Amino acid sequence: MSSTEQTIHTYHCICTQLVIASTSTLDSLKTRTADSSLILPLPDLSTTSTTTHYASLANTVADTKPVIIRLEDGFEKRYAHKCSRCEVTVAYSLDRSQFEDTKTSSGVKQDVVYLIPGGLLSTEDMKAGKDMDAEITKVGVKAA
Ligand SMILES: [Zn+2]
Repeated sequence: MSSTEQTIHTYHCICTQLVIASTSTLDSLKTRTADSSLILPLPDLSTTSTTTHYASLANTVADTKPVIIRLEDGFEKRYAHKCSRCEVTVAYSLDRSQFEDTKTSSGVKQDVVYLIPGGLLSTEDMKAGKDMDAEITKVGVKAA
Protein backbone atom coordinates (compact mmCIF):
# COMPACT_ATOMS: atom_id res chain seq x y z
CA MET A 1 0.00 0.00 0.00
CA SER A 2 1.23 3.48 -0.84
CA SER A 3 1.51 5.78 2.15
CA THR A 4 1.20 9.00 0.17
CA GLU A 5 -2.07 8.13 -1.48
CA GLN A 6 -4.98 9.96 0.09
CA THR A 7 -8.27 8.20 0.00
CA ILE A 8 -11.17 10.02 1.56
CA HIS A 9 -13.54 7.71 3.35
CA THR A 10 -17.06 8.94 3.82
CA TYR A 11 -19.57 7.95 6.43
CA HIS A 12 -23.28 8.46 6.67
CA CYS A 13 -25.87 8.88 9.37
CA ILE A 14 -28.39 6.05 9.62
CA CYS A 15 -30.75 8.31 7.60
CA THR A 16 -28.14 8.20 4.74
CA GLN A 17 -27.04 11.84 5.14
CA LEU A 18 -23.28 12.21 4.61
CA VAL A 19 -21.81 13.33 7.95
CA ILE A 20 -18.08 12.49 8.01
CA ALA A 21 -15.26 12.64 5.49
CA SER A 22 -11.83 11.46 6.56
CA THR A 23 -8.60 9.99 5.29
CA SER A 24 -8.81 7.59 8.24
CA THR A 25 -11.26 4.75 8.32
CA LEU A 26 -13.39 4.51 11.43
CA ASP A 27 -11.88 1.07 12.01
CA SER A 28 -8.46 2.66 12.44
CA LEU A 29 -9.54 5.18 15.09
CA LYS A 30 -8.79 4.81 18.77
CA THR A 31 -11.67 4.00 21.04
CA ARG A 32 -12.47 6.05 24.10
CA THR A 33 -12.55 3.73 27.09
CA ALA A 34 -15.28 5.65 28.94
CA ASP A 35 -18.05 5.00 26.41
CA SER A 36 -16.53 3.15 23.40
CA SER A 37 -16.92 6.21 21.18
CA LEU A 38 -14.38 6.62 18.37
CA ILE A 39 -11.81 9.38 18.73
CA LEU A 40 -11.57 11.39 15.50
CA PRO A 41 -8.85 14.08 15.45
CA LEU A 42 -9.91 17.15 13.46
CA PRO A 43 -6.89 18.84 11.86
CA ASP A 44 -6.85 22.63 11.79
CA LEU A 45 -7.61 23.25 8.14
CA SER A 46 -6.79 26.96 8.38
CA THR A 47 -3.08 26.26 8.78
CA THR A 48 -0.79 24.55 6.32
CA SER A 49 -0.38 21.34 8.10
CA THR A 50 2.18 18.64 7.50
CA THR A 51 -0.12 15.94 8.71
CA THR A 52 -1.58 13.58 6.14
CA HIS A 53 -4.67 13.06 8.23
CA TYR A 54 -7.79 14.87 7.12
CA ALA A 55 -11.19 14.72 8.75
CA SER A 56 -14.27 16.86 8.74
CA LEU A 57 -17.84 16.71 9.92
CA ALA A 58 -20.38 17.60 7.25
CA ASN A 59 -24.08 18.31 7.39
CA THR A 60 -24.10 18.35 11.16
CA VAL A 61 -25.42 20.96 13.54
CA ALA A 62 -23.40 21.54 16.70
CA ASP A 63 -25.16 22.36 19.94
CA THR A 64 -23.93 25.59 21.47
CA LYS A 65 -25.03 24.60 24.95
CA PRO A 66 -23.29 21.67 26.60
CA VAL A 67 -25.04 18.68 28.10
CA ILE A 68 -23.67 17.46 31.42
CA ILE A 69 -23.06 13.73 31.39
CA ARG A 70 -22.53 11.79 34.58
CA LEU A 71 -19.72 9.27 34.44
CA GLU A 72 -18.51 6.79 37.01
CA ASP A 73 -15.61 9.04 37.93
CA GLY A 74 -17.33 12.42 37.69
CA PHE A 75 -19.08 14.66 35.20
CA GLU A 76 -18.27 15.89 31.77
CA LYS A 77 -19.55 18.61 29.49
CA ARG A 78 -20.46 17.49 26.01
CA TYR A 79 -21.59 19.39 22.94
CA ALA A 80 -23.66 17.23 20.62
CA HIS A 81 -23.24 17.20 16.85
CA LYS A 82 -26.54 16.30 15.28
CA CYS A 83 -27.35 15.17 11.78
CA SER A 84 -28.89 18.17 10.01
CA ARG A 85 -31.51 15.96 8.42
CA CYS A 86 -32.83 13.67 11.16
CA GLU A 87 -31.29 15.31 14.27
CA VAL A 88 -29.79 12.10 15.58
CA THR A 89 -26.62 12.78 17.59
CA VAL A 90 -23.76 11.33 15.54
CA ALA A 91 -20.84 12.77 17.50
CA TYR A 92 -19.92 15.01 20.41
CA SER A 93 -17.20 17.39 21.46
CA LEU A 94 -15.91 17.85 24.96
CA ASP A 95 -15.41 21.08 26.85
CA ARG A 96 -11.88 22.44 27.08
CA SER A 97 -12.13 22.43 30.87
CA GLN A 98 -12.09 18.62 30.72
CA PHE A 99 -8.48 18.56 29.60
CA GLU A 100 -5.37 19.03 31.66
CA ASP A 101 -3.69 21.45 29.22
CA THR A 102 -6.78 23.65 28.75
CA LYS A 103 -8.24 23.26 32.21
CA THR A 104 -8.64 26.95 32.95
CA SER A 105 -10.65 27.73 29.82
CA SER A 106 -14.05 26.61 28.66
CA GLY A 107 -15.85 26.16 25.37
CA VAL A 108 -15.74 23.51 22.69
CA LYS A 109 -12.46 21.67 22.26
CA GLN A 110 -12.18 21.90 18.49
CA ASP A 111 -9.37 19.54 17.61
CA VAL A 112 -11.13 16.27 18.29
CA VAL A 113 -14.64 14.83 18.10
CA TYR A 114 -16.02 11.61 19.50
CA LEU A 115 -18.16 9.53 17.21
CA ILE A 116 -21.11 7.65 18.62
CA PRO A 117 -20.48 3.95 18.05
CA GLY A 118 -22.91 2.07 15.85
CA GLY A 119 -24.58 5.17 14.44
CA LEU A 120 -22.64 5.47 11.22
CA LEU A 121 -22.60 3.69 7.89
CA SER A 122 -19.70 3.71 5.48
CA THR A 123 -20.53 4.66 1.90
CA GLU A 124 -19.57 1.10 0.91
CA ASP A 125 -22.05 -0.34 3.41
CA MET A 126 -24.73 2.01 2.23
CA LYS A 127 -24.17 1.13 -1.42
CA ALA A 128 -24.27 -2.56 -0.53
CA GLY A 129 -27.60 -1.94 1.18
CA LYS A 130 -28.92 -0.03 -1.82
CA ASP A 131 -27.86 -2.75 -4.23
CA MET A 132 -29.65 -5.25 -2.07
CA ASP A 133 -32.82 -3.16 -2.22
CA ALA A 134 -32.52 -2.92 -6.00
CA GLU A 135 -32.13 -6.68 -6.16
CA ILE A 136 -35.24 -7.20 -4.04
CA THR A 137 -37.22 -4.78 -6.22
CA LYS A 138 -36.12 -6.60 -9.36
CA VAL A 139 -37.11 -9.96 -7.92
CA GLY A 140 -40.40 -8.47 -6.79
CA VAL A 141 -41.11 -7.12 -10.28
CA LYS A 142 -40.22 -10.47 -11.82
CA ALA A 143 -42.50 -12.34 -9.45
CA ALA A 144 -45.39 -10.00 -10.25
ZN1 LIG B 1 -29.50 11.59 9.96
